[in-house]
Amino acid sequence: MNGRKITSEEAEKSLLKAPEKAQRGDRLNFEDGLALYNCRDIWRLGRLAEQITFDRVGRNVYYSINRHINYTNICRINCRFCGFSRRPGQADGYVLSVEEVAEQARQAHQQGATEVHIVGGVHPELPFNYYRLIVEEIRRACPKLHIKAFTAVEIIDMAQKADLSMDEILMQLQEAGLGSLPGGGAEILSEEYFRRACPDKPGPEKWLAVHAAAHRRGLMTNATMLYGYIESPAERIEHLIKLRKLQDESLRNGKGRFQCFVPLPFIRPHEKPGEPSPATPDDDSTDVLTDLKTIAISRLMLDNIDHVKAFWPMLGVKLAQIALCFGANDLDGTVQQYRIVEKNRDNTTNSLSAEQIRALISETGRTPVRRDAFYRPI
Ligand code: SF4
Repeated sequence: MNGRKITSEEAEKSLLKAPEKAQRGDRLNFEDGLALYNCRDIWRLGRLAEQITFDRVGRNVYYSINRHINYTNICRINCRFCGFSRRPGQADGYVLSVEEVAEQARQAHQQGATEVHIVGGVHPELPFNYYRLIVEEIRRACPKLHIKAFTAVEIIDMAQKADLSMDEILMQLQEAGLGSLPGGGAEILSEEYFRRACPDKPGPEKWLAVHAAAHRRGLMTNATMLYGYIESPAERIEHLIKLRKLQDESLRNGKGRFQCFVPLPFIRPHEKPGEPSPATPDDDSTDVLTDLKTIAISRLMLDNIDHVKAFWPMLGVKLAQIALCFGANDLDGTVQQYRIVEKNRDNTTNSLSAEQIRALISETGRTPVRRDAFYRPI
């Protein structure tokens, strides 16, 4: 757990300064971010984040017609917060064939999807060729469909299996048709957190290195933050500052960058058969004030990442809609199938229609804009 704390006096001072700094366009520092987490006036924080959103990126709220495909739930890494993965040999583990993944993508494209989001567990045996063929097959079947695929840990695993550098893996996937990387697996970018929450997973520096390499290759990526598990607010702020720092470097290089930040609330998984309960808080998930503060503070701290997503499959549809008034400007998309968590907040479906998404956005007084993978209006 991160030990950095600020005194109540410092918090009070930062709390007074932070809104002014944000409004002036000055960069918020660690103390400012932490002070904002201590802020009890949630409405003031929300109004500030919303105003900064309008000033920086306008009043549009983006969504896409997309499809999530999870090609396997078998994973050799055993993150303690994960309810999705199954150990090799477990009865309800599955692996989709290359053809099955491509067929799901083809069906989604026929139904109007412009983007697929493909991630899975770190399967111990699938060779690099499997992943490359998935991309090649989809590209062949649907030349115009954007392929956003494989989190940093999957890229690292491919590099290890193929005995190639990350750069070579990214190059080969790009040649096969990969369009961008999703932002999963960042969790909380702290060595100490990884040691406690996911000790078998390649550490935070590796996650950052994959995204830096992708940006250097001109790939756009996203960044997530899994909050509400065992981290402190200070660790969340440090996570945001690390992302902001990498984004500064990537923007200087002028090629790829983070397009969107996606805060993901921890949702307690059902117990995995035969495995110890994960070390979780008592509750099933984070409290609503933490969710809304996290959205707003992300918007204020990440002054160089344009888009903040309210990811409704995990926040729940109702809270995701409110998050649009707290600094979010992206409601993800139709999704169609989301297997990473077993349930979401309001037990809604795993799929929303474009009409439902547009209505949710319009009710907040914002303009719904269907986007492509690079936030260009369609
Ligand atoms: S979070 Fe990802 S890497 Fe960790 S156990 Fe789950 S599927 Fe595997």
